[in-house]
Amino acid sequence: MPSSLVVLQDWLAKERRLTTVYGYPRQGPNRELKKAIEGYWKGTVTADALRQTAAELRRANWQQLNKAGIDEVPTGDFSYYDHVLDTSVMLGAIPERHRPERHRTAVAADALDGYFAMARGTQEVAPLEMTKWFDTNYHYLVPELGPDTTFTADSTKQVAELREALTLGLKARPVIVGPITYLLLAKPAPGVAEDFKPLSLLDKLLPVYAEILADLRAAGAEWVQLDEPALVQDRTAAELTATTTAYAELGGLADRPKLLVASYFDRLGDALPVLAKSPVEGLGIDFTGPAAANLADLAAVPEIRQKRLVAGVVNGRNIWLNDLSKSLSTLVVLLGLADQVDVSSSCSLLHVPLDVAADTDLDPEVAGWLAFARQKTAEIVTLSRGITEGTEAIAAELEANRAALASRANSALTNNPAVRARVAAVTADDSRRSAPYEERAAAQQKRLELPLLPTTTVGSFPQTTELRTARADLRTGRIDETQYDERIAAEIREVLTFQEKAGLDVLVHGEPERNDMVQYFAEQLDGYVATQHGWVQSYGTRYVRPPVLVGDISRPEPMTVRWWKYAQEQTDRPVKGMLTGPVTMLAWSFVRDDQPRSETARQVALALRDEVVDLETAGAAVIQVDEPALRETLPLRQADRAAYLTWGTEVFRLTTSGVRADTQIHTHMCYVEFGDILNALDEMDADVASLEAARSHMQVAHELGAAGYPRGVGPGVYDIHSPRVPDTPEVVSLLRKGLDAIPAARLWVNPDCGLKTRGWPEVRDSLQNLVEAAREIRATQ
Ligand code: GLN
Ligand code: ZN
Repeated sequence: MPSSLVVLQDWLAKERRLTTVYGYPRQGPNRELKKAIEGYWKGTVTADALRQTAAELRRANWQQLNKAGIDEVPTGDFSYYDHVLDTSVMLGAIPERHRPERHRTAVAADALDGYFAMARGTQEVAPLEMTKWFDTNYHYLVPELGPDTTFTADSTKQVAELREALTLGLKARPVIVGPITYLLLAKPAPGVAEDFKPLSLLDKLLPVYAEILADLRAAGAEWVQLDEPALVQDRTAAELTATTTAYAELGGLADRPKLLVASYFDRLGDALPVLAKSPVEGLGIDFTGPAAANLADLAAVPEIRQKRLVAGVVNGRNIWLNDLSKSLSTLVVLLGLADQVDVSSSCSLLHVPLDVAADTDLDPEVAGWLAFARQKTAEIVTLSRGITEGTEAIAAELEANRAALASRANSALTNNPAVRARVAAVTADDSRRSAPYEERAAAQQKRLELPLLPTTTVGSFPQTTELRTARADLRTGRIDETQYDERIAAEIREVLTFQEKAGLDVLVHGEPERNDMVQYFAEQLDGYVATQHGWVQSYGTRYVRPPVLVGDISRPEPMTVRWWKYAQEQTDRPVKGMLTGPVTMLAWSFVRDDQPRSETARQVALALRDEVVDLETAGAAVIQVDEPALRETLPLRQADRAAYLTWGTEVFRLTTSGVRADTQIHTHMCYVEFGDILNALDEMDADVASLEAARSHMQVAHELGAAGYPRGVGPGVYDIHSPRVPDTPEVVSLLRKGLDAIPAARLWVNPDCGLKTRGWPEVRDSLQNLVEAAREIRATQ
């Protein structure tokens, strides 16, 4: 037993310490919620039936948690679509265009249609914007606020769900997005000045929170949890002052439940003393991942002594078995700092799949290393017993945990000597191209002989229903491998014929063989494992099954060369090799936690590097390595970003530096804001970068131009998020804007992103106009 655990005996409490979680997966064991909601949208499920399904799922979740030994269950975390949208409804922050007087599907009390209209839009009215929830892969609907926004309390949903749980005889704690985080996540409504600060609405908002808290108290809530994850990001002094004000005011209310302010995903830093000094009764703090630093910081905050400390020691966003001894050590330290220490997940379990046991096809060795929501719940209960009854009481669990961790640490899967030796032997030269950009550019131009303003696309072409059906038919055995391959080949031929006719200069094969840009590679790399039922919510009714980076990564054989070669055989124009970059391969997977992310990324990069070299050997003159997720996994704290971008760009260069000078490396990224990563783009040293820009009026081109970016750039001139076809003059005008910042010799012409979600008719017309516009400009150069 580690020595810290012996000390534990001194802290044993007489009474049982509480266990809790902040939220639970919403979908149900067989994604019942998704099916019911989509049925409702299609008209095959009635509103009543949908409500009933939802209520049953909530009840089943609470009962499951309770049976597993969770003392205090969360309520109000359930959502038909998104909990931030639910918060907007609760606060009456309904955008003007969705209000009853404006629109027939407007949000009235509990009107499902109005709610879904805000989430998804209708023919007549646009939805709220959607964006990532901190650095997770969950998306929330962005509140739209302005100086004239008036808030009104609607506690219906929170009160109803609390009552449901109380009726079951459970101890229940409503969970609500806190006022500071709500305002910091909001953006100025359409028509409101860009520099409007939603936080300026705090004074108007707090009385509405007060009303909701009073309603919940009246409905029987002893505690209410207010989530403030925005406080783990760098905050200004004014924002911290607003936090002090908010919790002084809410804490000072006469008629209120006890307040638990929870944060997660990173350390609280300067916000920790602010919250600790506030008159709230409890703090929920994350002690996992980058938030582990909270443990040391807490020692300097004596105010924690009298508070209820909910210790997030079981990581709520990874899928790995907890190291129980390590968590007990953390809890021991906390027991020395606070009088009441409860055990919890670090954040809502929304971010992990439901149950490892459902995945019966998993290699049992690997399954033993994993913990999804149900397993995490059990870990929380075990840890609580450990600090209540003593470690003797959980000796069996500790032993099993130690054995599982040892099996993981010593497994051949996590220790591939060849992979380890190769990573160890990587030198700085391996991530440096053989020649500087200018030399490469000249050699590439000699080889490719491209016109000024070369035209290309980002990779995928429309994923038609025929393609999806073919994939499903292959799975069910209705067609065999040969028939499937013939369909893919036919699609590739069609995509190439179209591109040649349209007059594009650098062609793509269209990616018809790829179900998903990460999964396709994960399935072919050793060390990655796929789950059958590991669904997690991405947004609304969209659920994804991220592959799991379990072991050391290697590439048993080439992954893309065959289809690339087939495509290149059909045409004389260059066809781009098309790969997903290492950072994106990590970002959209569950990543192992037993080594730094950079180490895993290096392994993936080396596997991809072999693919890049194989493509070159097969004859590819242009190879694109996509990194759309580089900005997404940017650390929440500024201080951690430089280190991340250093290894993130290094692994890109490691992937792409094994080729000759005359092989042209492209990359692609797509987000509206590039400000944070302009330097990173430079560090990547790609010969050409295609970037999203159509909606932002070529902003990124200007930023790159101003920064003196020296390489090829293709700022997107066709917004692929919309079915709209840009006409030739519009593309010409965007290109002229691009030319103001980037010289013609380095400007590329391409859409914002891949075309897989678009229909063929729009794609045909749009690309035709894009080529036409490039020709028009060329004629004037
Ligand atoms: N090559 C990919 C495609 O075109 C890139 C997708 C992305 O950036 N998300 O589909
Ligand atoms: Zn993209």
